[in-house]
Amino acid sequence: MNKKTLLVHISNVIKGCEKTEVSLGAGAIPRSLIRPTALDEQVVYRFKAAQAAAAQDGQKIYIVSGYRTLNRQKTLFNQAVQKYKSIDEASKWVAPPLVSHHPWGIAIDVNYPDDPIGASWLETHGYKFGLCRVFENEWWHFEPVIAPGWKCPSLVPDARYSKN
Ligand SMILES: [Zn+2]
Repeated sequence: MNKKTLLVHISNVIKGCEKTEVSLGAGAIPRSLIRPTALDEQVVYRFKAAQAAAAQDGQKIYIVSGYRTLNRQKTLFNQAVQKYKSIDEASKWVAPPLVSHHPWGIAIDVNYPDDPIGASWLETHGYKFGLCRVFENEWWHFEPVIAPGWKCPSLVPDARYSKN
């Protein structure tokens, strides 16, 4: 049987990467200046690195929802308002379009709704890759709010406390 060896390098070095390496960034990944049309590339790299490390620990993590168009976020928010019968209650679960970080390509929903165990692996180890859970009420939602290896900030209660 052929054994495959995986080597995961975690680095927040911008310059000094080998040709075949990519930097995971040296800080939080901020919003871009213009509205993107896809998930931020560095978020993708961070997640792929985390995914490889998770696999070595026997855990499977996958993105269920990453980038969303503003219209998609609007639809989701309106559905939540219908469901919860109030804008404030809906905002706890689905951030309003202009607040949500999904349309900025810097938020990912992981393993929702089927596999909280995998997501809890990411909650424990995500900081190494610069990915943090941010909301108390959403175990599946992660954002690139730190440099890889830094400490994730304390959770905020819900999407209403989203920092802009
Ligand atoms: Zn989310």
